[in-house]
Amino acid sequence: MKLLLICGGMSTEHSISRMSCTNIRKQVNPEHYDVTVLGITKEGDWYILDQNVTDYSSENWLDHAQVVTETFAFLKSFDCVFPVLHGMYGEDGTIQGLLEMANVPYVGCRVFDSAAAMDKVMAKKLFNAAGIKQTPSVYVKKQFDGKFVVVNDDTTEDENVKDVILKTIGLPCFIKASRSGSSVGCYKVSEVSELMPRLQEAGQYDSKILCEKAINATELECAVLGNDDVIASRVGQILPHGEFYTFESKYEDEQSATCIPARVAQSVQDYIRENAVKAFKALDGHGLARCDFFLDQDTNEVYLNEINTLPGFTNISMYPQLMKDLGIDTPELIDRLVALAFER
Ligand code: ADP
Ligand code: MG
Ligand code: MG
Repeated sequence: MKLLLICGGMSTEHSISRMSCTNIRKQVNPEHYDVTVLGITKEGDWYILDQNVTDYSSENWLDHAQVVTETFAFLKSFDCVFPVLHGMYGEDGTIQGLLEMANVPYVGCRVFDSAAAMDKVMAKKLFNAAGIKQTPSVYVKKQFDGKFVVVNDDTTEDENVKDVILKTIGLPCFIKASRSGSSVGCYKVSEVSELMPRLQEAGQYDSKILCEKAINATELECAVLGNDDVIASRVGQILPHGEFYTFESKYEDEQSATCIPARVAQSVQDYIRENAVKAFKALDGHGLARCDFFLDQDTNEVYLNEINTLPGFTNISMYPQLMKDLGIDTPELIDRLVALAFER
């Protein structure tokens, strides 16, 4: 089977994708696939990476790479595509749309579920409709003229952003660019004076901004796998080093750690596994996702935070680790994901 892996991409998570793809390339069963790796630069140019390059996170990833000009015909020449891309233009339904048009089976979520999961504001509405508990929030939109307005559920708009946030969710709160990941454009705000400056910063990444009540949280994650029949892993725990799980603590701080199974009550783990599948189904998910929850240390309530349809896939990432814990090692996981791609 001719399998295409895609890495890099025009997103703020470009470098993470190259790490994930390096791991997947290493773990693919060579007896099952004839593998080609496509690298997409931050500028959006496409290159077939040289077979002798094995570490796509290295600076030399494009050495002897061949430029791809006929992108559509190129995609059509594969039996299956695994877009190992995180964030915008990868995890948000855009490349999935291209692959649908090319009529090539691909790993993971389809157009709608990818787009819905990527957009925190919209995902929140769908999870809410499915009756899944989430943290209280306010949706703020940055208008074309640069003004910030609160968009209420009845779609009326309120220009008094600061007052609405303080009244509805209070401080401390989290301000997040809606369509982002890896904690890019995500800030914790503890002082009123920081509120508008942080909204401005988040507004640099996205015109849609989600403001959420800050939870004193234990962060718990559950991996799901499947299309119609979805299995859930055990629950893993994040032990972030620092104030919250920032970009640096995710990828650069060696003192951040993970632990499987999580050190929380069995009832909490059962609740999370059930709601992970429910959340995945609420978006009509396909293939895989990592569903992230908060256990409120003050109240013991569990809230769904978000679901990631193309979670980090390095050898120490939570998704492949949770699958290994279920007895599915990464080569088998790739086989299963590819098989699920053909259930169209
Ligand atoms: P991303 O898609 O960038 O991972 P998240 O919504 O998961 O965005 O936010 C990143 C991190 O910020 C979380 O892992 C957590 O550490 C912290 N965080 C986000 N929202 C909240 C919240 N409401 N309460 C407490 N911590 C939060
Ligand atoms: Mg995310
Ligand atoms: Mg997250």
